[in-house]
Amino acid sequence: MVRRQSATHRRVEAAEIYEYPEHLRPWLEALPSLPGVYVFHSDSETLPLYIGKSVNLRSRVLSHLRTQDEAAMLRQSRRITWIRTAGEVGALLLEAKMIKEQQPLFNKRLRRNRQLCSLLLTGSQPQIVYAKEIDFSCQPGLYGLFANRRAALQALQSIADEHQLCYGLLGLESLTHGRGCFRSALKRCAGACCGRESIEAHQQRLMDALAQLQLVCWPWQGAIALQEQSGDLTQYHIIRNWLWLGTVESLEETETLCRLPAGFDHDGYKILCKPLLTGDVEVIEL
Ligand SMILES: [Zn+2]
Repeated sequence: MVRRQSATHRRVEAAEIYEYPEHLRPWLEALPSLPGVYVFHSDSETLPLYIGKSVNLRSRVLSHLRTQDEAAMLRQSRRITWIRTAGEVGALLLEAKMIKEQQPLFNKRLRRNRQLCSLLLTGSQPQIVYAKEIDFSCQPGLYGLFANRRAALQALQSIADEHQLCYGLLGLESLTHGRGCFRSALKRCAGACCGRESIEAHQQRLMDALAQLQLVCWPWQGAIALQEQSGDLTQYHIIRNWLWLGTVESLEETETLCRLPAGFDHDGYKILCKPLLTGDVEVIEL
């Protein structure tokens, strides 16, 4: 009898029941050593088991097949399909879209986030603002992306703790007029609320602490094409306001995509910000 007592036991058990998935071998034959997105399917036509991406489809899928911890997914798999992309950015964009749309059984759940918010700093107190209310792609003074209001407040609080900023001045708690905050007595607030530090110095320290979280406004006038190429495949990912509008293989096909409405997109921002801003990719303004 198998005892189910701890995670260690379960791992041992998983390793014991792992067998190389011979039944998937036929699906490996045509797998290319090129970038793309791959899908492990069960018998179900609609619900995939797992979606992943790689710059080398073949070696990535082969490594899944050797992973003992994935025995359960591998046993349920009946076939493997893939979609080639011309590069890593295309694979990341397509993977995120497919996971969100198809919610595979063995992927971490990704949900559309309707409460996505950020901290807007125009005066001395950061305000929590929501992506559904203002366009994050062109609003200056935004810091951080948070799943909800509570996460934004927690982030602001830990920044205050780390930098001895005043909860009162940040609007995290109310101040009694003429008295320092509770944390200033404990020396956890540097004392901008009671004259030990100037308001200006406090503000500067707040801005310095937030600086690395600052969101980047969409730096182009309109849409751009991010070009990727591998082997015989060239793709242009059409992007505006950090939203991926679609991918085409010729720049003559971009017109309809460029006309689509485009608001800020969290996934797009996460995936595209670094490659676009570091200049590691080919960018064509449209
Ligand atoms: Zn204080």
